[in-house]
Amino acid sequence: MGRLAGRAVLVTGGSRGIGRSCVELAAAEGARVAFTYRANTAAAEATTAAVRATGVECLALQADGTDRSQVQAAVQAVVEAFDRIDVLINNAGIIRDQLMVAMEPDDWDAVLATNLGGTFHFTQEVAQPMMLQKAGRIINLSSAAATQGGRGQANYAASKAAIEAFTRACAVELAPKGITVNAVAPGLIETDMSREVRSLAGDRIREEIALRRFGMPEEVARVVLFLASDEATYITGQVIHVDGGLRL
Ligand code: NDP
Repeated sequence: MGRLAGRAVLVTGGSRGIGRSCVELAAAEGARVAFTYRANTAAAEATTAAVRATGVECLALQADGTDRSQVQAAVQAVVEAFDRIDVLINNAGIIRDQLMVAMEPDDWDAVLATNLGGTFHFTQEVAQPMMLQKAGRIINLSSAAATQGGRGQANYAASKAAIEAFTRACAVELAPKGITVNAVAPGLIETDMSREVRSLAGDRIREEIALRRFGMPEEVARVVLFLASDEATYITGQVIHVDGGLRL
């Protein structure tokens, strides 16, 4: 019996990186797990196979978080499969880095639509079943970029700062329904998303991290899972930084 025994958990962007770690840790804690992905079917199949090999049910759903009808269908599929939805982890995200003055409007739109829009669509869709259950946990992935200036990330930083504001607003609205809403803000974590920045400026950035190393996906997932567990019943509207002491 794990800390999430019997719970139904949905992770957006759960096929790779931090999302995959959330899927695997939730499954190891006894949850029934579903995750979404956008296009990389091979990665989704690998994640599903890894979880099923541990004897736990795992549902992979191809659903673009920017498309409301696909989000609706994904949430419906989870509720049909598991009869409920206890935890939503809004993890799917992208970067399209460029200096603000040279940023293509399409790259602005894509980052806002994926990171912030996807978080809104999934939160709104799960709110209904969670309100009926009078219980639920929503955990949103923010970033150190939400609060620390960085070159080339105007779109990404804006999306993540908005996610933190969204988290607090939803926490207030949903608290009377028994639903908590929190965010986790990672620093630099070893995933596909950060590969380029790590290879271009890794040594310099490491110098700015108190622990002098990048984080691993499971170090973020463990905090996400804590917020989903019964150990976090009195926490809502908070942002927990998981960044090894970045720019302290
Ligand atoms: P990855 O790039 O490793 O994985 C991204 C995941 O999101 C994939 O599963 C991808 O699916 C999915 N995804 C992307 N766009 C969509 C979409 N439109 N619809 C559905 N799924 C989508 O990312 P990370 O694991 O590095 O990041 C996870 C979260 O953590 C993000 O929100 C990110 O902003 C945040 N974060 C990451 C940091 C880091 O250093 N890595 C630092 C701070 C925050 P597919 O493979 O099919 O495209």
